[in-house]
Amino acid sequence: MMNRLNIIKPDDWHVHLREGKMLNIVSKFSTRINNRCIVMPNLTIPITNTELAKKYKSQILSSIQEESFIPLIPCYLTDNLDLKDFRDGLINGIFIGAKLYPLNSTTNSDYGVSNIEKIFPALEILEEHNKNLLIHGEKVAEIIDIFDREKYFIDDELTIIRKKFPKLNIVLEHVSSKYGADFVIENNNIAGTITPHHMLITKKDVFGENEIDPNLFCMPVVKEEKDLIALRKYACSGNSKFFLGTDSAPHPDTDKEPSKSIKPGIFSSPCSIELYAEIFEQENSLQNLEKFSSINGPKFYNLSINKDKLTLIKENWKLDKFTVNNEIKIKNFFGGEEIKWKVVLQE
Ligand SMILES: [Zn+2]
Repeated sequence: MMNRLNIIKPDDWHVHLREGKMLNIVSKFSTRINNRCIVMPNLTIPITNTELAKKYKSQILSSIQEESFIPLIPCYLTDNLDLKDFRDGLINGIFIGAKLYPLNSTTNSDYGVSNIEKIFPALEILEEHNKNLLIHGEKVAEIIDIFDREKYFIDDELTIIRKKFPKLNIVLEHVSSKYGADFVIENNNIAGTITPHHMLITKKDVFGENEIDPNLFCMPVVKEEKDLIALRKYACSGNSKFFLGTDSAPHPDTDKEPSKSIKPGIFSSPCSIELYAEIFEQENSLQNLEKFSSINGPKFYNLSINKDKLTLIKENWKLDKFTVNNEIKIKNFFGGEEIKWKVVLQE
């Protein structure tokens, strides 16, 4: 039995650090274990140009202690992007790539793309500069069931993008279904990130008979047992097409009250690498954790692999139910429960 893991320091290829007070509270949970994070650009005013990206990057850096930490920011694609600025941002490394949020698909996506044809000029630039397109892959329409949004996005939109831009590298983010994961495996130039929560809970945990657990409500919504099994299988296989992206997405407790419209998002960064380790252990695949957490991601993004290491030991500890500071209270994923792996911070 393995009781100690020494892995190359991970990166998180999809996380929400938010802004303002929330940023100052949550950023330390990501920097404690990661060397780099792709920080999502869906702020109240989305990051749609280089000026906003530079400002956001400096806000993130001033919220943290670790000097070596690198925040990477994708450009938030809109129907009418400044293409010259976008190209400059990619060339100068201000943008790591670009993020496609279909209109109204999740938190702050009301600036999102209404029709994918509108972003074809931007996708052409991405393809030309060999930069990745990151996708929130859900098609939202009244006639589409919430559990089928990923499938419809793949069939109706992603196939069009791939046909038009065959060389474009795509990350299907937070893959949530067997259908989506199979699609990633079966096609070239596409990879996927997988969250801990999509490998730990199913829709039965979220939707009770008469109520919903607001803290487990996220987009894309968690699905069925068969989907969870497929995601575990692919993540734990070590296949280079899948890598770590927590989609840790904090909301204050007040945005999770059942009496209001509940904001989607699960806050997992206080225990994310620990939960991944537990999942890989359950699947008898601890030897593949490092590929998933620290190797497959940088390879797909054409970045160097980290040099530092991170150590985890098999030791039970209890995570606080909430992350609290004076003004904000956030429910921790697995908060109040026993966690089976522990990060060794100093030796
Ligand atoms: Zn997200």
